[in-house]
Amino acid sequence: MDPEVHSLTGAYVCHALEPAELEAFERHLARCPTCVQEVAELQETAALLASAAAQTPPPRLKAAVDARIAVTRQIPPVVSHEPARQADRRPRRRWFTALGWGLAAGLAAVVAVLGVRLNDQQNQIDQARQRSTAISTLLAAPDVHAESVNVSTGGNGRVLVSRSRDEAAITVSGLSRLAPGKVYQLWMMGPSGARSGGVVPVTAEAFDSVLAHGLGDARTIGLTVEPAGGSAQPTTEPVMLLPMPA
Ligand SMILES: [Zn+2]
Repeated sequence: MDPEVHSLTGAYVCHALEPAELEAFERHLARCPTCVQEVAELQETAALLASAAAQTPPPRLKAAVDARIAVTRQIPPVVSHEPARQADRRPRRRWFTALGWGLAAGLAAVVAVLGVRLNDQQNQIDQARQRSTAISTLLAAPDVHAESVNVSTGGNGRVLVSRSRDEAAITVSGLSRLAPGKVYQLWMMGPSGARSGGVVPVTAEAFDSVLAHGLGDARTIGLTVEPAGGSAQPTTEPVMLLPMPA
């Protein structure tokens, strides 16, 4: 069997094959169970990573909008302090002016809040787009490999790894919620020890996909439960150990 054909699984999954390559690969796929399995794993992992990347975190968005509302001036009450007799002289004009300013202030507040919200959503869309581009690039690497493993406290961890790109994309679904004051933290573990891959933001039951660059000598991705803010080194037994190919 041509070993180069085996390396086209990732490019096949992200539809990056030329028509001639595609035809040759599909012929190969018909008689290579290894590639069939690899393609299935890559497709499943890529779909999970992409859906994690597309998730919008409403709590963060709401917090940003609320914070903006708190510092935005509200519509002043439309009240006339003029005695009734004086108000008779030019009531309409004062009334219109007060209402005019109130409307302007109110509109300014709405525009400011909408601006923040749109800006925030655009940032999230940009981030999701950047992440899915990064995942597609990783998928197209000739040595891309998918691994999955169960998390001991519930859930399933998945990784796409490419040693040639020195990159991994990780996602975990079905995670149990933690007690307040506890966080999940990722670790790149190798002969020279454990390096933090960061505290992972858990929304609902899956965390956003994490892209790790500079894998170094790491052979395993670990997940531990740590005190809020994370630790410099793991302080508990990993609830997940995800092997990475050398
Ligand atoms: Zn094959």
